[in-house]
Amino acid sequence: MARIDYLEFWATKHCNLNCKGCSSCSPIQEKWNIDIEVLKQDLNRLKALKILIDNINILGGEPLLHPHIADILNAVKHIFPNCNLGLLTNGLLIKNMDNDFWNSCVENNVILKITCFPVFSEDDIEQIVHLLEMNGIKYQLTRKIRFNKILIENNPSKMEDILLACGCNHAYNLYGGYVSRCTVPMITEKFNSKFGTNLNTEGKLNIYDATAEEIIDFLMTPNNSCLNCSAFPQKVAWSQAGEYPSKDDWLIG
Ligand code: SF4
Ligand code: SF4
Repeated sequence: MARIDYLEFWATKHCNLNCKGCSSCSPIQEKWNIDIEVLKQDLNRLKALKILIDNINILGGEPLLHPHIADILNAVKHIFPNCNLGLLTNGLLIKNMDNDFWNSCVENNVILKITCFPVFSEDDIEQIVHLLEMNGIKYQLTRKIRFNKILIENNPSKMEDILLACGCNHAYNLYGGYVSRCTVPMITEKFNSKFGTNLNTEGKLNIYDATAEEIIDFLMTPNNSCLNCSAFPQKVAWSQAGEYPSKDDWLIG
């Protein structure tokens, strides 16, 4: 049976934090909420192909900005009831969530994976933990103060070195009927059109034109989109992109 360990998809592309170097390029994305009917169609296609998915992560942007995030959780679990479902959030909106959301998290056994950026004080984090525990929510907290810049134009490195440095851990991405090995192929067209760069725009496969075996082979095989990634990712202190993001917020010079 064809199997995917981790599948991720964007619930939104926009975010309320707009970090420099965001792997979803949220600071340059338009406001966009996933259409739940399209999501269901795509997940049902993978299910019809008998692809087993062990873990599904919902990403943004900031997924809690989606007005129907509880319906998304319900839809994913309805289609893949045995998957471990995670929701990645920056936590800024957690205190505003309603009972529908909390009930859906409990019923669907969702793990909230919260990245705490330096905008939070220790008190904020304590309050969030208290809220999660009161609502019986499973969670993971990660503190993040640094980002990796990975994108590079005219990459001088060899593919084998790029892949050794790759940090995507086979978390495959699903977006609008296409899959990719990570978020990079899903952002390059937007990046090029915003900044006039020449990043490679290959690396997506239409799941409606492929068999299960072709999808798994495609996801497991490096392709030219990996040439967008440096073999020497650059660590930078976390900061927000501000009103005028620059290509240098992502690109290694
Ligand atoms: S919080 Fe996450 S999704 Fe939002 S801009 Fe930062 S890295 Fe991107
Ligand atoms: S494009 Fe390739 S090298 Fe870059 S993060 Fe994705 S899988 Fe890794």
